[in-house]
Parts: sequence; C-alpha cells; structure tokens
Amino acid sequence: MRTQAAVSHGPDTGFTMEDIEISDPRPDEILVRLTATGVCHTDLATKAMLPAGIPAVFGHEGAGVVEAIGAEVTGVRPGDHVVLSYSSCGSCTRCATGHRSYCERFEALNAAGRRPDGSATLTGRDGDAWSSFFGQSSFARHAITTRENVVVVPEGTDLVTAAPMGCGFQTGAGSVANVLRPGPDSSLVVFGTGGVGMAAVMAGAALGVGTIVAVDLSEQRLDLAAQVGATHTLDGAGEDTVGRIRDITSGGATHAFDTTGVPTVIRDAARALAPLGSLALVAVGPTDAGIDVRDLIGYGKTVRGCIEGDANPQDFVPLLLDWHAQGRFPVDRIVTAFPFEEINEAVAAMKTDVVKPVLTF
Ligand SMILES: [Zn+2]
Ligand SMILES: [Zn+2]
Repeated sequence: MRTQAAVSHGPDTGFTMEDIEISDPRPDEILVRLTATGVCHTDLATKAMLPAGIPAVFGHEGAGVVEAIGAEVTGVRPGDHVVLSYSSCGSCTRCATGHRSYCERFEALNAAGRRPDGSATLTGRDGDAWSSFFGQSSFARHAITTRENVVVVPEGTDLVTAAPMGCGFQTGAGSVANVLRPGPDSSLVVFGTGGVGMAAVMAGAALGVGTIVAVDLSEQRLDLAAQVGATHTLDGAGEDTVGRIRDITSGGATHAFDTTGVPTVIRDAARALAPLGSLALVAVGPTDAGIDVRDLIGYGKTVRGCIEGDANPQDFVPLLLDWHAQGRFPVDRIVTAFPFEEINEAVAAMKTDVVKPVLTF
C-alpha cells in the first residue's frame, strides 16, 4: 500500500516528504500506523554517514496503533496501542540472559537498512529505500515491524510522551536504573542534558538518589534539569569542573554518566569519580578518549559502555510509563511536539532550545 515518509537522500540535504510503497506484513510482521515518533541523535548520526544517492527512511522511536498482523504473530492484535523499540533475535545467548541490546544480530536487525533477508520494507521513486531502521523506520505514516519491537501499552497512554521511551528515554533511564544502580546515599553526575541526559536525571530522582549534578553548556537546559530532579547544576564551560564536582559530592561522584561522547568530558567524568565509583558511556564520539588508566587502577574505578540502557523494552517501557503516571518521570516537561511535515524544523530546533522533538501524525 502507499504511505508517506520523510526521506533522506544524503547527508547534506534535509528530509523530503514523499509518497512511498510499504510492504504488506509478512507472517512474522506487524503493520503499525504511527501517531508519534521521536527524533533521536542516532537518526541524524546515521543520516550523516550514509552516502548521497541512497534514499533512506530513519526513525526509531515510533508509537501508534496496530493496523494488521501476519498469521504467525501472537500477543498483539489490530487496534492495540504500541510503543516501538529496538529489535533483537530473542534466542541468542545474550538475548536469553536478558541482555537483548547486545543481541548477536543487533546490527543486522537494527542498522542494515534492510530486513535480514536483504529485502526492503519501503520502495520509493528511486527504488528500494534504506529501511527497517531499528526494525521500524518510523519517519513514515506506517511502519513494518516485528513482535520483538512492539510493546503493547494501555489505550489511554499519551503516545507523544511515550514514543521516546522506546530509545532515548530508555537509554538514559536504563543506564542509571539497570547499569549504574545508584542508591539514596549515592551521588550521580550527568554530563549533557539532552533527552538521554534528562531521562537519566529523572531516573536518578525516581530512585531517590540524594545528590544529582547536571553538567551542560546551556543555562536554559540546566534550569530545566533542576526542575526535573537535579539537585545541583554546573556550567561545563566554567573553570575546574572536576574540582567543583568533588566539592559538591564531598570528594567525588559515586556514579557518573556521559551523554556527550566528547573525549575531554569523558576524561573529566572519570577523574571526578570517587574511589570505587562507576562511569557509564552511551554517546559514540571519537574512539579514543584518553582516560587515565592509573587513576582507574589506583582508585578501583569502573568505566563501562552500554546500549539502550541494558533494558528489555517489554519490561522497561511499562516501568517508565508507571513512573510517568506517578509523576516520578516528568518527560512531558522536555518533549516538544512538531507536525510530521515539519521534521526539518524539529531537527533544527534540537540545536537550540528543544530537548526532545516528537513528530506527530
Ligand atoms: Zn539475540
Ligand atoms: Zn535512539
């Protein structure tokens, strides 16, 4: 059938709205009509890496209503309201041990631009589109996806604020709740207060962490971070960030989280840890951050990377929805809705004051 997608034709041009052909769902697939989809930095980073001339449909924070299901699909029915997340095989050793974001087939299922068999779910005027991004490609009015991607949510769920729970909010909150696991006596420092960092601040507050420090270059974002749970804010451009963090945390942070991918920031984050402290990394920047290995060894510090907050979306998205309903995860404060047609404006706004744009259909 025909649908409409925001198509990218290369790294240097914006998205164009185009009519496009979407496959019928195969026996193991689900057709979803999108009502909202978040814009994540990973969409833009991937757009920037694909060569010009390949039509591509990104989008991996979709939410909407199931329109049709293949004959083999169970546990989801047409009419169900759903939040879409990343794809995983469900059967490899890492999936089987609860670490689906490190699925052995993660690349093939989420970032190959095709179904695993090489076919495309979307075909435009220039032929097959690079599609199936995170098993969904939700910068379109419809998406072909699979059971692993789909989290069924209650019908009354606000899908505009819920859509980013499938990636950005899950990544930020999961990195704190599942990976770092701070407690009430801990101190958590979050570097970068975009959508992921803000979700981490909120998760820290939801877990009752006593000291939560947000570091950013934007005064406006730091004000917002204070409103959603940060107990302290720091201008990252100021003098001696590490020293100021040590002062606030009485000697060093027990937990730190980097969402910037900037080597100097990552080095500061590691140095600002208390002995036996832990730093989690999620932002992909230069491969070498130059962390002081002697400092890690001498003080028993841990630095680890993580994807999608180590979260299984089937459990974690409902937890975030519960937190939100209880007022403990106020993501509505950081979401700005844009009509789908204004995707280029939404992307531009991310560079200024908008923390988390969500496209609405
Ligand atoms: Zn797997
Ligand atoms: Zn993402």
